[in-house]
Amino acid sequence: MLVLEAKMKGKDEQFEALDEAIRTFRFIQNSCLRYWMDNPKVSRNDLYKYCKVLADSAEFPWAVKLNSQARQAAAERAWSAIARFYDNCKKQIPGKKGYPKFKKYQTRASVEYKVTGWKLSKDRKYITFTDKFGAGRFKLMGTRDLNFYQLEQINRVRVVRRSDGYYVQFVVDIERTEEREPTKKTIGLDVGLNHFYTDSDGNTVENPRNLRKAEKRLKRLQRRASQKVKGSKNRRKAVKRLGKAHLKVQRQRRDFAVKAARCVVKSSDFVVLEDLQIRNMVKNHHLAKSISDAAWGEFRRWVEYFGKVYGVATVAVAPQYTSQNCSNCGEVVKKSLSTRTHICPHCGHVQDRDHNAAINILKKGLNTVGHTGIKAWGENDLYLNQAIASDKLAR
Ligand SMILES: [Zn+2]
Repeated sequence: MLVLEAKMKGKDEQFEALDEAIRTFRFIQNSCLRYWMDNPKVSRNDLYKYCKVLADSAEFPWAVKLNSQARQAAAERAWSAIARFYDNCKKQIPGKKGYPKFKKYQTRASVEYKVTGWKLSKDRKYITFTDKFGAGRFKLMGTRDLNFYQLEQINRVRVVRRSDGYYVQFVVDIERTEEREPTKKTIGLDVGLNHFYTDSDGNTVENPRNLRKAEKRLKRLQRRASQKVKGSKNRRKAVKRLGKAHLKVQRQRRDFAVKAARCVVKSSDFVVLEDLQIRNMVKNHHLAKSISDAAWGEFRRWVEYFGKVYGVATVAVAPQYTSQNCSNCGEVVKKSLSTRTHICPHCGHVQDRDHNAAINILKKGLNTVGHTGIKAWGENDLYLNQAIASDKLAR
């Protein structure tokens, strides 16, 4: 699976029609969730049927305007949250099970079509939405790579609304694989605050400096927005500026993650990382920590993606004890967060703390069978712009 993205150009009233489609998509998604909550033993199929009920209902005249396959896609999204919840219950993860939540209004939102409800022009420079919202034809910016694929290979089209405009994502059904010479190298990566990561050979990759700077700016804009009077025009302006700054940070982070991940995967036959519970970590209010967590989460998803592309096994291991154990003799050597050097009283092994941890992570991974893959579709947001898609970044 490959996701290509293009920005859409159109008139204000067209985007308003898209907003309506996005709103309806969310309505169906939430209605399905409500239906599941109110009725015992609802299956995915029942949700599909319920979509039809919604569309036929005179109570919700807007539901029928959304393309029928898009309605199904909305049901599928609701179902994926339900399925995740069931899965967590089965695994008996202590604490949060992630009970499905209703989707609230957000600027960042989307509507998803399957193979109907949209049409690409012959030259692939325009897309037309054909359902009853009447959004019409949009010019696409940056779709050169779309020409490399058959129309039949596009099995989903998603319209994404962001602070700085509307984008369309084409999900191309290809198993993207690339040749790569085996390097006979295995690698373990330890994420840290001081470096972006340290590998099991002792090499470090620094945190991107521009990200830190952008984050500082973000904090300033946030403060400024919250100082403005609620509901005022100035506040709206400040919030919009903040949204754009957020996007910029996200894009910088993504570019960094893509480059770093690709580099790691291409130079190793086997990559081990920590299976950190990013969602819990991002809640941490310590700024530097939250930046590095978000960047790490993104990086990890791309490592898994490129792992598939290049046929490199990637494993995520539980982070427990990786920093405490001695990578030489295996004994536990307790240390606080501020202890930067691992000194083993049992075997005398002395090593940088993160380097020691990275070796432990690699060892753990080598003991693990199987490897993880990326999720095919859903909440993750792995898409490529054309430069990356055609592999120009590496050259
Ligand atoms: Zn030791």
